[in-house]
Amino acid sequence: MDARFRGYDEVLLTGLHMKYVSTRGQGAKKDFAGVLLAGLASDGGLYMPESWPQFSAAELRALRGLPYAELAARVIAPFVGEAIAFGDLQAMCRRAYAGFAHPAVVPLVQLDSGVFALELFHGPTLAFKDLALQLAGHLFEHVLAARGERVCIVGATSGDTGSAAIEAMAGRSRVDITILHPEGKTSEVQRRQMTTVQASNVLNIALEGNFDDCQDMVKAMFADVPFRNEISLSAVNSINFARIAAQIPYYFAAALALGAPDREVAVAVPTGNFGNVLAAWAAKQMGVPIGKFIVASNRNDILHRFLASNDMSLKPVEESLSPSMDIGVSSNFERLLFEFLGRDAALTAQTMADFRVTGKMAVAEDVWRAVRREFVGFHLDDAGTLAEIARTYREAEYLADPHTAIGLAAARECAPVGLPVIVAATAHPAKFPDAIERAVGFRPALPPHLSTLYEREERYVTAPNDFEQVKGLVRNFANRNI
Ligand SMILES: *Cc1c(COP(=O)(O)O)cnc(C)c1O
Repeated sequence: MDARFRGYDEVLLTGLHMKYVSTRGQGAKKDFAGVLLAGLASDGGLYMPESWPQFSAAELRALRGLPYAELAARVIAPFVGEAIAFGDLQAMCRRAYAGFAHPAVVPLVQLDSGVFALELFHGPTLAFKDLALQLAGHLFEHVLAARGERVCIVGATSGDTGSAAIEAMAGRSRVDITILHPEGKTSEVQRRQMTTVQASNVLNIALEGNFDDCQDMVKAMFADVPFRNEISLSAVNSINFARIAAQIPYYFAAALALGAPDREVAVAVPTGNFGNVLAAWAAKQMGVPIGKFIVASNRNDILHRFLASNDMSLKPVEESLSPSMDIGVSSNFERLLFEFLGRDAALTAQTMADFRVTGKMAVAEDVWRAVRREFVGFHLDDAGTLAEIARTYREAEYLADPHTAIGLAAARECAPVGLPVIVAATAHPAKFPDAIERAVGFRPALPPHLSTLYEREERYVTAPNDFEQVKGLVRNFANRNI
């Protein structure tokens, strides 16, 4: 066996029986395939692995230099356990990442002394969500084929998630996908990335309403149990642990490239739902030496307020130049809370229930202090974001999208002395041409595979903000071949 693959056998063995528990303690334990298809646990909690797979220093060193898809398969394997054979997982990772526009899949670019952009935007829709969703598409197809089942995925999007999910599921034989977007409220690039995908299993609905209306429609469909069962409703939202698992390998890759496990690193992550930064924290639990997690927010700064002053309180969401971080609550934070409460599911459930009622999360002082030892918060408004894009372009001749720019500013402001910082570059600048133009005076070109985006034919249906009508559209679509 190739020396680099040694150590992997042990990883596989320790992961053989990986089971998942709900952060709220009531839902039944599931294996990886069950978690993939279920998404949310039945008690409203989020699935977590019963324990974190461990990579020793020698096992980490053995991963150095592997092609990204090979490294990803080895890091994800212990989470999958016996739910999927390793050879199948490996083949799915290869296929998922073969279409990325950069041979390294997730290249690491040095921008300053000690500051590195981890470019996560070389997938089909130019945002980091492709890393998880491209693989999720293959995983869904594989698990459904083994069970002889089909599903109809329904989701709401304000932009990025919808296109990444559509790209991942287009053309799959066991999955239909319907994405609702608020009519006229996504950028043209974002809308066209969804509506120009010509696959018969994709339905785009432009809803006459805003993003919250879209989300309410989706929630109402899931709450309608007969309907849910009738069309085998499913979701691929960012609380699905399979997506978290698929985001862990790139932190391994970047840290290894910078000298881990023999050198400690820090990470700075532009954050919305907290999924991407949670994946970095998971990498640390698995053995990657990450000394600090810098959580970067825009004006929607609930996480910054929490980390600065233990104030996790709801505020209305405001629009910003980094729309993928325009959130009121970071849903994946519940996973971190569960860990820092010593995996006490009853206390996690109580804390979340109180939060829902009061709009303010009560976190004990000692728990908050423990979180603060590892995490630091940062926030930046739109003017600061534009200034950071301009500065990065001037000083490093590098175009950062508005989300990445917030991460870069956070790294400069908060990085511990002596640690190299990996900044998650979450979107390609061409996805946000208006903001880039305001900052540097020109519009970035779309990469070659999207250069004809503005000429492609769009396909979508428009629907009024009416539950029965939207439900009818989804039902007809799901039953179209019957
Ligand atoms: C989704 C997204 C984020 C936020 O990621 P989370 O995992 O929700 O924290 C940041 N930047 C971009 C470009 C995104 O698409």
